[in-house]
Amino acid sequence: VNILPAHKKHPRQWEKFHFVYPVLSRRAHGISIGINPNPDKRCNFDCIYCQVDRREPSPIQKLDIAVMENELRAMLKLAKSREIFQHEPFTSVPEPLRRVNDIALSGDAEPTTVKNFAEIVEKIVEAKREFSLRDVKIVLLTDAGGLHRENVQRGLALMDKHNGEVWAKLDAGTEKYFKLVNRTAIPFAKILKNITDCARKRAVVIQSLFCKIEGKGPTDAEIGAYCKRLRDIVVAGGLIKLVQIYTVARKPMTMVDGRGAWEFVTALSHKEMDHISELVRRDTRLPVETYYGE
Ligand code: SF4
Repeated sequence: VNILPAHKKHPRQWEKFHFVYPVLSRRAHGISIGINPNPDKRCNFDCIYCQVDRREPSPIQKLDIAVMENELRAMLKLAKSREIFQHEPFTSVPEPLRRVNDIALSGDAEPTTVKNFAEIVEKIVEAKREFSLRDVKIVLLTDAGGLHRENVQRGLALMDKHNGEVWAKLDAGTEKYFKLVNRTAIPFAKILKNITDCARKRAVVIQSLFCKIEGKGPTDAEIGAYCKRLRDIVVAGGLIKLVQIYTVARKPMTMVDGRGAWEFVTALSHKEMDHISELVRRDTRLPVETYYGE
């Protein structure tokens, strides 16, 4: 899947909206309407490749659900009437991609950390119903860190009834590489358990970002360990409908030991991406989609 100019612009703040933003998403094959439940940018992970710039505090610290609801309705109106394609950066989007694929819970941090996750899903369901958007998915992009929370479980159950889909991040096969890339205090075993439990209730999409750190990508042994994690999920009764393998497509904005990650965290080449995708296909027999960098 190649990158178009609009694929490169993913600001979480669009025109006068605060919590709702449209993006042309390669992985959604169309427009994804994002909801940012974490405007404070505080995340339970600190991924080395994260594009969220945390050097400046956000002017908005808390999600206002009533405002989000109004914004979502306004955005759905723009999308349904196709007026959105008269606005930048969507004016040059080709016709086959002029479709709304999903409403995505994805923002400046991890959506499963918010207290009122289920309430947010309820509001999305109501808006979908109002605009007769039965086929539009509700996608949760998650690092899986909060999937076990009771309130999140309620939201997930509601998503299941309304064309919901969970896209769970898994960027490593070993605890060591997980700590290097995702930089979190949450144990790797906890993340794997949460993904497994979630996948036993509904088919999940695994999204995995692999990149070069100081010029080095993950070793074949790391990818082998990663494949074993995927197989373990399946053996435990989990359903994985798709593995999305992607690399850095936008500039990382994190700081690592006082250095900007943009200096040393870079995209894998097309050849390296094909190699990893082939290893995963062969080892897991799962469907794999590959999203190249530049
Ligand atoms: S989980 Fe997402 S928002 Fe959080 S640090 Fe990683 S990439 Fe950034």
